[in-house]
Amino acid sequence: MCICIAMYTKAQNNPADTKKIISSNKQYILASIEKHKPELIELSNKVWGFAEIAMQETQSSKVLSDYAALQGFKVERGVASIPTAFIASYGSGKPIIAVMGEFDALPGLSQKAQPIKESLNKGAAGHGCGHNLFGAGSLGAAVAIKELIAEGKLKGTVRFYGTPAEEDKEGKVWMAKAGLFNDVDICFDWHPDSENKANMQSSQAVTHYMIEFKGKSAHAAADPWNGRSALDAAELFNVGINFLREHVKPSVRMHYVYKSAGNVPNVIPDTASVWLWIRDSKRTGVADVETRMRDIAKGAGLMAGVSVKVNTMSGLYEILVNEPGAKAMQANMEMIGPITYTKEENDFADKIMKEYGNAQLGIDGSIKPIEKTKTDPDGGSSDVGDISWIVPEVGMIATTAPAKSPWHSWVVVACGGMSIGHKGMLFAAKALATTMCDMFENENLRKDVKADFEKRRGTERWKAILPDGPPPVY
Ligand SMILES: [Zn+2]
Repeated sequence: MCICIAMYTKAQNNPADTKKIISSNKQYILASIEKHKPELIELSNKVWGFAEIAMQETQSSKVLSDYAALQGFKVERGVASIPTAFIASYGSGKPIIAVMGEFDALPGLSQKAQPIKESLNKGAAGHGCGHNLFGAGSLGAAVAIKELIAEGKLKGTVRFYGTPAEEDKEGKVWMAKAGLFNDVDICFDWHPDSENKANMQSSQAVTHYMIEFKGKSAHAAADPWNGRSALDAAELFNVGINFLREHVKPSVRMHYVYKSAGNVPNVIPDTASVWLWIRDSKRTGVADVETRMRDIAKGAGLMAGVSVKVNTMSGLYEILVNEPGAKAMQANMEMIGPITYTKEENDFADKIMKEYGNAQLGIDGSIKPIEKTKTDPDGGSSDVGDISWIVPEVGMIATTAPAKSPWHSWVVVACGGMSIGHKGMLFAAKALATTMCDMFENENLRKDVKADFEKRRGTERWKAILPDGPPPVY
């Protein structure tokens, strides 16, 4: 369907004098995102200013969904029984190509868009993961595709998934559990970062547990022999977990906090609880460690003479990467060309990194070469992982902060509220939309993407690791 016109256009922002053929649809996309640039920046800045945390993103969800409706999308709000989750769609029939956008902030990270640490609203939340850019950038990509469908240049359906609560409470998993992704052909996402890269790396699978111990209280001095300490069991449990560390693979991560551990020293605690996360490169690895952990919990209960209950709270799957999808993304990122920065932006980057206490390494706007997938991913988990087990998922990261920026910090909040962040957002919107365009136009590519997905998924099937509903909305 794509018509490659015999016109040579210099790729935008590309300082090299290379000339590349850009299809008319892709030229349209690049122009559309430039046309909507002021609105996308305004949307991103509004969400940045609202800085609402997981499941409380009322205003952020409203501005993004209102904009989608204004652009002619059909908008369904409050999907999956989450008031801030929404789906905006345009077009009809297959293929259904989707893009996800997050918009939740992190508590306590409020910061002005300046290189000196100073909160915007003391004690309030801030976009320390750049999700204000994530949501607006993905929506910009969806709008460009919508316009091509409206013009009759692409056939099928484009969907924007407004996915709340990534930082906490697993918004996408609740949406997936409600079956909202079941008919999607290919799904896209991106994430703010300090590099431009097509995603070839997975993430860690994780399960969250609450281990509850119940004993018998007694006066800690008068008759301690009549008491059974739940706290003793909780401590013994963690001793066991810490000994277990020697006997798990290096890819395993286990971290815990005490959620309750008694009230005063002179009462033997009859209840205690430990909140434990187990991560590994694959779900099967988490399951193996879970078996050992359950035995340790049982043993700790026996030693202390108390009862124990292991509650599975929630969990996330590892990301299944998609090689043909990542290669298509890479080609488009190279076509768009690196992001360039002004002297003011470079000065801002140096100043903010100095203020934070990190090395001043500039801002990396280059396009990184495509990588090989590591056997074990870097530490961290995402609810994008669950989606990647239901539909083929294609992702990328874009530079929205200086090189080696400390993520989940005030530095990322500051950069996400000014032009360094905006440039990364617009780059991401272009990379996503041009690759989504490939998926609409090229049936063979869709087949390759699907085949890669099936090969990686194998016979294992996704099952939400969530408590019984409804979702934990406020
Ligand atoms: Zn994030």
